Amino acid sequence: MDCIFCKIVSGEIPSQIVKETKHFLAFRDINPVAPTHILIVPKMHIEKPAELASLGDSALGELFTLIQEIAENEGIAETGFRTLFNTGKDAGQEVKHLHLHIIGGRKLGRIG
Ligand code: 5GP
Ligand code: ZN
Repeated sequence: MDCIFCKIVSGEIPSQIVKETKHFLAFRDINPVAPTHILIVPKMHIEKPAELASLGDSALGELFTLIQEIAENEGIAETGFRTLFNTGKDAGQEVKHLHLHIIGGRKLGRIG
């Protein structure tokens, strides 16, 4: 499959990796919209948030722990940050491989 994030997971395309866990890889967005802009992707190619459940309950716990660890390491746990999935065309999803954005380090505007 010709998927840019699968290629980042495999190392075929270089990225600034922030952290790796059993099920997820976190790396810096190539076009950051804030001082901290990190993407968390499942290593497995899935496309919709609901499919995360197929990774099992332990993976969901792993994901939320990873978000918190990244926020602390980036120094934005106290100042605040946004986590979001863009799903589908109305949300402007560019890359089909599911990815969670962690955005922070500046005051963010309202969503939408
Ligand atoms: P979406 O709009 O699909 O939610 O977001 C896709 C994100 O992936 C964008 O913020 C874009 O900057 C980022 N992105 C696209 N291609 C690459 C890449 O090759 N490397 C990295 N690190 N980020 C990418
Ligand atoms: Zn993929």
